Amino acid sequence: AKVSGRNQYQFFSKDMNRKAKVRLDLESRMRRALVNEEFTVFYQPKVSADDDRLVGAEALVRWIDPDKGMIGPGEFIPVAEETGLIEQIGSWVLRRSCEQTIGWQKMGLSPVKVSVNVSARQFRSRAFIDIVTGVLGDTGLDPKWLELEITESMLMNDVESAVRKMGAIRDLGVGLSIDDFGTGYSSLSYLGRFPITTLKIDRAFIADVDTNPKTAEIARAIIGLSQGLNLEVVAEGCEISEHVAFLKEHGCSTIQGYYYSKPVPAEQFQQMLQAGRVP
Ligand code: C2E
Ligand code: CA
Ligand code: CA
Ligand code: CA
Repeated sequence: AKVSGRNQYQFFSKDMNRKAKVRLDLESRMRRALVNEEFTVFYQPKVSADDDRLVGAEALVRWIDPDKGMIGPGEFIPVAEETGLIEQIGSWVLRRSCEQTIGWQKMGLSPVKVSVNVSARQFRSRAFIDIVTGVLGDTGLDPKWLELEITESMLMNDVESAVRKMGAIRDLGVGLSIDDFGTGYSSLSYLGRFPITTLKIDRAFIADVDTNPKTAEIARAIIGLSQGLNLEVVAEGCEISEHVAFLKEHGCSTIQGYYYSKPVPAEQFQQMLQAGRVP
């Protein structure tokens, strides 16, 4: 028993070692990526449910590693969050998104809103409001064209301070969306206290609206709730015409998903802006 215990311990510690190495390697590559500007922002169109007009985009970070090619956020955001590097990566994404958005406006393209994801660590950071203020000041972007996407779970630890922080963001004139709505802690009782502008229905609900009557009822309820609270409601993850038909029929205002377009590089999004719609 002693021997196997020791073996297990060795195995465990080797495994830990390997994971720590992978993490350390990823961390140093991310630091290098920041310096070498290996990150880039892709934009996924959001369209108006009324007329399919292009009304906005979600900014989604990508990492073009010289050796490994394109790396999705799922592979590095969690480690960036743990190591704290997310604060720098997130600030970079915010600045880049605002720069490109004002750039398109200066080209005379019809303005659209850009939505930027904010991680828990960024949102909690004391510097966050100053960072957003600084980016708006430096780029000259009118704050009404910026929206920040946060998740419910970021708000529930310390509701008082979250409400204050949200208020400070709204005071800047920046929009505030609750991402993945319906999947976090149920915060219905707090919803009235959160100074938000938008609810974003999680794609898990959308995936099932055409096949599962109960899910459809939940999606309908979220849309109704948004209307009652005077919030914009965005559905993410719309992949097929049945999803779009359901959302239009039930009064969802804004739609995002592969049905319209995947996230695309800035140059390609610019072409969509020039057309005013997705191809
Ligand atoms: P999210 O904020 O929920 O973003 C939506 C994700 O769903 C994106 O994945 C998008 O490509 C994907 N998606 C969009 N339409 C569809 C669809 O019709 N079907 C399916 N199956 N998926 C769809 P992506 O770009 O891989 O991002 C994954 C997550 O990484 C994001 O989830 C967000 O939590 C995080 N993330 C991405 N960029 C940033 C960033 O700049 N900062 C932070 N903090 N997090 C980010
Ligand atoms: Ca999001
Ligand atoms: Ca989401
Ligand atoms: Ca999600």
